[in-house]
Amino acid sequence: MQSTEIKKLPEDLINQIKAGEVVERPYNIVKEVVENSIDAGAKNIQIELLDGGKQLIRITDDGCGIPENQILTALERHATSKINKFHDLESLASFGFRGEALPSIASISNFTIRSRPQNQEMGKEININYGNLLSEKEISMPHGTVIQVKDIFTNVPVRLKFLKSTATEFTHIHDFLIAMALANYHISFRFSHNGREVFHYHSKKTLKERFHDIVGVDAKDFVELNYSRGSFNLTGFAGLPKSAKQNPSYFITFVNGRYVKDKIIRSGVLQAYQGLLIKGLIAPAIIFVKVNPSWVDVNAHPSKTEIRFYDPASLQELVSIGIQEAVKDSVHKSNKPENI
Ligand code: ADP
Ligand code: MG
Repeated sequence: MQSTEIKKLPEDLINQIKAGEVVERPYNIVKEVVENSIDAGAKNIQIELLDGGKQLIRITDDGCGIPENQILTALERHATSKINKFHDLESLASFGFRGEALPSIASISNFTIRSRPQNQEMGKEININYGNLLSEKEISMPHGTVIQVKDIFTNVPVRLKFLKSTATEFTHIHDFLIAMALANYHISFRFSHNGREVFHYHSKKTLKERFHDIVGVDAKDFVELNYSRGSFNLTGFAGLPKSAKQNPSYFITFVNGRYVKDKIIRSGVLQAYQGLLIKGLIAPAIIFVKVNPSWVDVNAHPSKTEIRFYDPASLQELVSIGIQEAVKDSVHKSNKPENI
């Protein structure tokens, strides 16, 4: 029978329950931690994984670091340096705002954080084992932050059971890191898996340079996008119809710098190619949409790859027009006989 005594849940149990929302798989951890590094102004971010992140995720940055007297606070639920009031969400410039990632991750792993701001001589290391504080010590380290996450979900067997193969977990993380590397071309990203370097993209001055680094020789099959109307702006690269595939390697979309998998943007891209492609084929696209922050609600879901638009129909139309103009123009040009 149900007990009639109503009690408040203890903090560590709340963290574990919430972790279920924020952390479903290694990818979510990499996403949260890399976004924190970018929010911290890092110029170099290194991501190391063992076994698709199931065994180990270590992310090292050279960002602003956390002052030693604030690290424990950063590990508390709803502790954030990024917003102060609800209104701030309307003009959000950072990825984070919930203050949920670190305590959630620390509640389902063997978690170590090391951090040192530039103006502090020594860094601090804190080790938390499945939500319990194990140790705290001063260490010497370069400025920045290192987050190490080992053996996720060992304390939540049902979650552990649902982790996929190393290859699947790796692919999710790899695709996300490619997207982040595109959107943040000024940051150097270094990624290794099981001790082998997967990529090392050095800091670049333009999106175009980073795009060439990543896409390689196939870059010639894309047209560059640049379309604005009012506060709407579309940039990026769209594949020429001949590069369309059933499952293109690149179909990456961003809204205000945030990597999203959004139906509206996707429909806008597909609409742009109507009449240009054989049915079932999709052109590759790397799309950056910028809109007035008050047009979108990023507060829709903790994992935050879905967002809500206040006027989805107009947005879809603008994305479609922006791509269509560039692609049609280019198809038209390449169909013209030369030397005329
Ligand atoms: P959020 O990003 O939503 O604020 P997190 O739990 O991800 O919440 O992080 C809590 C706080 O810890 C952040 O607001 C930030 O002040 C600090 N922090 C986390 N990661 C880093 C980092 N790599 N460098 C500097 N500060 C960080
Ligand atoms: Mg965060």
